[in-house]
Amino acid sequence: MTYKASKVRYSEMEYKRSGRSGIKLPALSLGLWQNFGGNQPLENSRAMVTRAFDLGINHFDLANNYGPPAGSAEETFGSIYKKDLVPYRDEMLISTKAGYYMWEGPYGEWGSRKNLLASLDRSLQRMGLDYVDIFYSHRPDPETPLEETMGALDYAVRSGKALYVGLSNYSAEQTQRAIDILKRLGTPCLIHQPNYSMLNRWIEDGLQHILQAEGVGSIAYCPLGRGQLTNKYVDRIELESKSPEASSLKPAALTPERVQKFRALEQFAAGRGQTLSQLALNWALREGGVTSALIGVSRVSQIEENVKALAYAPLSADELAEIDRIMHI
Ligand code: NDP
Repeated sequence: MTYKASKVRYSEMEYKRSGRSGIKLPALSLGLWQNFGGNQPLENSRAMVTRAFDLGINHFDLANNYGPPAGSAEETFGSIYKKDLVPYRDEMLISTKAGYYMWEGPYGEWGSRKNLLASLDRSLQRMGLDYVDIFYSHRPDPETPLEETMGALDYAVRSGKALYVGLSNYSAEQTQRAIDILKRLGTPCLIHQPNYSMLNRWIEDGLQHILQAEGVGSIAYCPLGRGQLTNKYVDRIELESKSPEASSLKPAALTPERVQKFRALEQFAAGRGQTLSQLALNWALREGGVTSALIGVSRVSQIEENVKALAYAPLSADELAEIDRIMHI
């Protein structure tokens, strides 16, 4: 059946400016890391991408290595784009990244100009796109001069293959240096993509301050702690029943203390009339949090539940203090 986007797709989503740029991001963005690979049914992937778009999620986050197998999430996205989303290209923000291992030999990973630009070309081919909206350096390279990596990002924009650039997994200090280089090159950094959730607050120790001062936006990956901050692992059973390949989360990560915290958080969320995943998203998007929360999902109902988080009142100072208390039990 031909897909036609919902007429009310912009009625419920919030859009927040990424730093001091001209670009607004949806409060929730969709990540295609693990559930959109060649090993997944295409119809489910298609249903998730189009449902997300209907709910105002117009930002789709990919990387060269998403799958599995690596590269196949971009192929999946490309076939959905071709079939359903071509008419909406100017309404969409599509991002990809390079930096992790993709091919054999000395140029198949990290941050050389050779790797980044070859990888971007391959990503564009897999997705059937002329350009991506955001091209990221996926991780800092300890051996390549930062000037070279940033120069490659700048060139990606100048050659029309990307509109904006971003950094992911860069420390506060590396981010400051990268932002300065990009500024000098005339291609300002649009956004930083860090791991951020109630379980991992490292960005509060320096990075967030730099991003605010420099007018750079932020998009949190794993805002649900890879599924830990949802109702599914409140009992360990579901995780233990998953095959190791099916989850990046290892059962050992879920200690009894953690599970106890999740149960307390779930009860706290229930007191607000919401689910744990909705609470976790309200928390990541709180005043002083991030521009957008990048969710992973495996089914349409999860997207719908997560988008409903935006209808709840922001967390008050007392509620935030209570969450801190639970997390530090
Ligand atoms: P999340 O914290 O968003 O966890 C996603 C998982 O939570 C889903 O796969 C699903 O598990 C579960 N889930 C989501 N919503 C619900 C719900 N309402 N109820 C119950 N369970 C739910 O993180 P991800 O690790 O998936 O990361 C999100 C995105 O961030 C990635 O797709 C990618 O785009 C980006 N990312 C970037 C990285 C980087 O280095 N830049 C690194 C990692 C991620 P299940 O699949 O078991 O149903």
